[in-house]
Amino acid sequence: MTKSSAPLGGYAVNPYVGCPHACRYCYASFMKRFTGHTEAWGSFLDVKNWPPITNPRRYAGQKVIIGTVTDGYNPLEERYGKTRRILEELKDSGAEILICTKSDLVLRDLELLRELNQSTRLTVSWSVNTLDEAFKEDMDAASGIAARLEAMKQVYEAGIRTVCFISPVFPGITDIEAIFHRVKDQCDLIWLENLNLRGGFKKTVMDYIGEKYPALVPLYDEIYNKRNRSYFELLEQQAAELARRYDCRFVDNETPYERAEPGHPILVDYFYHEEVRGTENTGVRKKKGRG
Ligand code: SF4
Repeated sequence: MTKSSAPLGGYAVNPYVGCPHACRYCYASFMKRFTGHTEAWGSFLDVKNWPPITNPRRYAGQKVIIGTVTDGYNPLEERYGKTRRILEELKDSGAEILICTKSDLVLRDLELLRELNQSTRLTVSWSVNTLDEAFKEDMDAASGIAARLEAMKQVYEAGIRTVCFISPVFPGITDIEAIFHRVKDQCDLIWLENLNLRGGFKKTVMDYIGEKYPALVPLYDEIYNKRNRSYFELLEQQAAELARRYDCRFVDNETPYERAEPGHPILVDYFYHEEVRGTENTGVRKKKGRG
């Protein structure tokens, strides 16, 4: 359980290090530095062990986020069951648990999630940044989009709070409105986050765009080399307008914890999420000149 620096705060829990989903844009590959791995990100997995949590109540009221730098429901969870174990240990903790995944393996634990939902505030989030399975296949080795959406639906119908995390939003490729219509009746929240290109994977993604979407190269050059934010600022306005049209709230921070009316998910603006922390839905980001 590590104190998290993500905008939501709380504790980050990663029962594994490394992630077989191997997303091309994975920011978590920096974890290799801490573990001494030299293999490609996605080709190894460290399985953690830990002494039993004997006093889960110490996490009461705390946010506990599972899967910040490794998907806890990666395919090897089927064999090792470490994510299931941590959930069982936190069953009576009273924590606010968030599971972030790109997998439908969550459904294996549906009964456990129902139980957890009685005694904790539970949220399950699936990352979906496209409805196009071919683009998804190019990007990651996780569950297909149809399988993720089906898992989201079943968990939502089990009375559990769900999130569709539209992330990362690929300029010119991710269609926020199409995804909104597909998920609006099966999630409480829609999170929006821009594609952020840092470190080694910037070249990987730029090369991919050059090869598969050459018409988008000038746009990516503007955003990621010249640091022009107008594309995402316009997208932010379009998302706010979409929310207005469908009677959904548009906020910059998902707190306080709440459920949305069916068909009217809350849209959460995590574009440039490093500016979100502490904004408490004031709409005023930390960066000067934005409001
Ligand atoms: S699922 Fe998350 S942690 Fe795993 S490779 Fe993809 S972005 Fe990285």
